[in-house]
Amino acid sequence: MGKVYLVGAGPGAPELLTVKAARLLNAAGIVFHDSLVSGEILRLIAHDAQVVDVGKRCGQKLLTQGEINALLVSASADYDVVVRLKGGDPLIFGRAGEEIEALRRDGVDFEIVPGITAALGAAAAAGISLTDRRAASQVVISTFSRGTEGALMDFSAVTSTTTLALYMPGPDYAEVAHRLREGGLPDDLPCVIVSNATVDDQQIRWTSVAQLAREEKLPAPALIIVGRVASRKVQEISNAFWHRDRGDQNVARSAVS
Ligand code: SAH
Repeated sequence: MGKVYLVGAGPGAPELLTVKAARLLNAAGIVFHDSLVSGEILRLIAHDAQVVDVGKRCGQKLLTQGEINALLVSASADYDVVVRLKGGDPLIFGRAGEEIEALRRDGVDFEIVPGITAALGAAAAAGISLTDRRAASQVVISTFSRGTEGALMDFSAVTSTTTLALYMPGPDYAEVAHRLREGGLPDDLPCVIVSNATVDDQQIRWTSVAQLAREEKLPAPALIIVGRVASRKVQEISNAFWHRDRGDQNVARSAVS
């Protein structure tokens, strides 16, 4: 029996792979990868390894999650080193939970190799500190896009010192802005959209909750960082952003102000 490695490929730039990820790509007998993983990184895979794209194309799934789980289990019988390569970190919006469960259930040896998640790649690209002590005390990694998997984002955790890293914002920024406002976030709260963080076609837009609806759509993958740190003038950003009454959020707000 071989071993299955759930490996994070990082946000895109090959140099942001961990040394361990690069070593495993070179040692793998078979690699199952998501479509998000860049060509430059796929080129690091051993030439004699089998490479299987199990990702999504234009919203159309190539394989179901159940099929991917079954493939990982069966590959572990045929290969010493099986790599399941995911963009960013495998444990953040990567469906690793289901794969881990299947591997455990079938007694397959596995290991998780962390990667740099997109929020950290995007923050680095924009040059913002997600936990800038002048403006933030927590980071919430979230998304509105959970498909059939569950509820929409829970705003109860969001306070005036929260930095929100919004994965999979989708193409409709007006809808995102609408949901942020519905969640009680003020119009003038800064946002930054980062598309293709850390790779050549990286683009960054500095905006705000109110202006977001009017921003030109940037190519996927893109991520939106929302919060007072998402301003180039953090020191000028005060609690004045938080005018709107948000019921139970008042407690959290006054606790941090
Ligand atoms: N496991 C991944 C996230 C997978 S969900 C991670 O830890 O990063 C896919 C989402 O990640 C995209 O919709 C986008 O919001 C974000 N993303 C991934 N790579 C990105 C990049 N290079 N730049 C901006 N956002 C990225």
